[in-house]
Amino acid sequence: MASQKKGGGAHCSLLLGDSSVLKLVRVVAIHGPGDIRIDNVETPNPGSNEVIVRVKACGICGSDLPRAFGDGAHFYPVVVGHEAAGEVAVIGSQVQHLHVGDRVVVAPLVPCMSCQFCQQGVYSLCRSYSFIGSRQQGCMAEYVRVPSRCLVKMPPELSYEEAAMVEPATVSLHVLLRVGVAGSRVVVLGTGTIGLLAVQWARFLGASQVIAVDIDDFKLEIATKIGADVAINSAREPDQGLAQLREATDGHLADIVVETAGNPATQVQAVEVAASNGHVLYVGTADKDVHFPAPTFEMILRKELNILGSWMSYSPPFPGKEWSMAISALAQGRIRVEDLITHRFELDHANLALETMRDGINTVKVMLLCAKES
Ligand SMILES: [Zn+2]
Ligand SMILES: [Zn+2]
Repeated sequence: MASQKKGGGAHCSLLLGDSSVLKLVRVVAIHGPGDIRIDNVETPNPGSNEVIVRVKACGICGSDLPRAFGDGAHFYPVVVGHEAAGEVAVIGSQVQHLHVGDRVVVAPLVPCMSCQFCQQGVYSLCRSYSFIGSRQQGCMAEYVRVPSRCLVKMPPELSYEEAAMVEPATVSLHVLLRVGVAGSRVVVLGTGTIGLLAVQWARFLGASQVIAVDIDDFKLEIATKIGADVAINSAREPDQGLAQLREATDGHLADIVVETAGNPATQVQAVEVAASNGHVLYVGTADKDVHFPAPTFEMILRKELNILGSWMSYSPPFPGKEWSMAISALAQGRIRVEDLITHRFELDHANLALETMRDGINTVKVMLLCAKES
C-alpha cells in the first residue's frame, strides 16, 4: 500500500495498490445497548502527530461488553476495541519514528502528558486522558487513527494475533511488577485472559509456586497447560477451596494473591488465602458491591496484609517497560498466548464475536480479524 502524506488537516487519502482511492472503511459501531452494526465510515485523516493503522487483529476485552451491551459507552456511535495490532498505513507530517508498512501494537491510553500525574510518569492516573476504544474511536475497524506515541513497533517473530494479546499481557505484568515475585508462592484467582497471563508472568518472574483457582474446568486445563503448578476448582467442593490451597502450599497460603475475576466472592477470598504479611493485588474490576464479613476484614489487620490496586499498564518512558517486556517475552515464546485465543471471527461477524465473549462458554479470548490480507 502506498500513502499520501500531507499535513495541516489537508485532504489525505488511503490508496490501494491499484491506485483506486479507498474512501470508506468498515468499522464495528455500537449505536446503543446491544445495537451493534458494521458501518462504512469515511477514511480517517491523520493529524500531524497521528498515524492511520490498518488493524489486523483486535481482541475483545471483558471491558468492551458493558460498552456494547450495557450503559458503559461514553457516546454513540462508538467503535470499541483497544487490544490491537496492525500495519502503519498513513503517517502524519510530524511523525518521526514510524514508517508506512511498520508492524505495530496499539497502547490505547492517550494521556495528556502535562498534568501532575503525567509529569510524574503515573500515566494511568492522568487527570484528562483519552482512551482508544472508549473515549475515542477504537480498533474494531479496518483502519484506526492513533497518536503516534501510542504505537510500539513489534518484531517479525510476533504474529498480529499474538501482538493483539500484548495489551492484556501488559496489564497482568504491571500488577506483578508492583511486588517482588521471585521465590514467592503466588495464587491467581480467576483464569480469564488476565489470570492466565498472570500465571505465566508469575512463573517468568521467578515465583516458587503458582496456583490457579477458578470455577471453570475448561480454563483450569489451560492454566495447567501454560504452567500453573496446581489448578483448583473452587466450585466443586465450595468449602474445600481453602483447605486444598492450604494443602498445596504446605500450610503457608499465598505470599501474593492476584485477584483477576472481579467477583465479590473471590475479592473476599483473596484476603482469606493470603499468608501473614502477604500481598493482595486487586486487578479485576468490581461490578457488584463487595461485603467483607467482620472476621475476614480483621484478617487484613491480624495478618498485616499489603493490599494494592492496579490500573492499566503504563510507566515512564511512555508507554513503559510493561510494553517492551511483554513484546519481547511474547516474541521469545516465554509468554504463550496461542492457547488463550479460543475464538476467531472476521470483522463482519463482530456481533457474533461480542455475543460469544458475553456468553463466555469455553471462552477465554475472542479475536476479531479486522482488515483482510491485501
Ligand atoms: Zn482490555
Ligand atoms: Zn495527564
